[in-house]
Amino acid sequence: MLQPLFLKPVFKERIWGGTALQEEFGYNIPKENTGECWAISAHPHGPSVIENGPYEGMTLDELWRKHPELFGNPSGEVFPLLTKILDANMDLSVQVHPDDLYAKVNENGEFGKTECWYIIDCKEDADMIFGHNAHSREELVEHMNEGKWNELLRRVKIKPGDFFYVPSGTIHALCEGTIVLETQQSSDTTYRVYDYDRLDVEGNLRDLHLERAIEVTTVPHLDAVSLPVVQEHGKSRITTFVESDFFSVYKWEVRGKSVFAYNDQYLLLSVIKGEGTLFHASEQYEMKKGIHLIIPVGFGTFEVDGDCELIVSHT
Ligand code: ZN
Repeated sequence: MLQPLFLKPVFKERIWGGTALQEEFGYNIPKENTGECWAISAHPHGPSVIENGPYEGMTLDELWRKHPELFGNPSGEVFPLLTKILDANMDLSVQVHPDDLYAKVNENGEFGKTECWYIIDCKEDADMIFGHNAHSREELVEHMNEGKWNELLRRVKIKPGDFFYVPSGTIHALCEGTIVLETQQSSDTTYRVYDYDRLDVEGNLRDLHLERAIEVTTVPHLDAVSLPVVQEHGKSRITTFVESDFFSVYKWEVRGKSVFAYNDQYLLLSVIKGEGTLFHASEQYEMKKGIHLIIPVGFGTFEVDGDCELIVSHT
């Protein structure tokens, strides 16, 4: 009998991190400046470990190789997605990611990185950097060389519940006071564009990667906004945020008993609010804020009962 695969997250210290992952999600964080929870990851820089069932103790990348049937016998060599929760306690550096083709050639066969953000929480009046105002690559280079960052960078207001699709080539940065669930291609390739001239603990500026950033940035900026589609699902509600070539992302708002049926597609689930119980066959599993799991292919019908919100994704 198939079981859901519960995953143990990996935490990353970041200079911009804080303690919200502990305060908000109850995670046992390693440091006061923990910035990232790699919740569902098969990336070599921080693979998650299966916590239950017959595969307990196996890393997700190992499971992907040894039991491809759980994922529908995919053709790809590596698990394609990565789910993170980010605690931006301070502004992140302004950055841009390459697409698959550029990363393959220039980054040892890594995936490119298209990502998206669901804003779990943020301070009042928060914003973020999303895109730029240059009309041509020449103008982009000119503004960067002259350090005209305020003119160049585009700021967008954000609030809890907002969703942003961030295709590769989009200049972006989370700003102070933001907690985000990020669904992304499984990649760790980032080109830093601007770091607010901040110094690290040793008094040095962090490296920038302007040349590569200029090569991969989409000019002019394309605003990839699509309106979320909301569907009632019994007493619950499913919001579709994006269905792209890389991933589809949804929010499930479970209110009471809801039946779901998935057979041909594995799903990544992250509980971001509330709690409930997942019933499958004769088994039941606790679902509560901060838990992450994968529903394998062939799992079939299951029920979630409770009062909780989940971010759900698949390829
Ligand atoms: Zn990014």
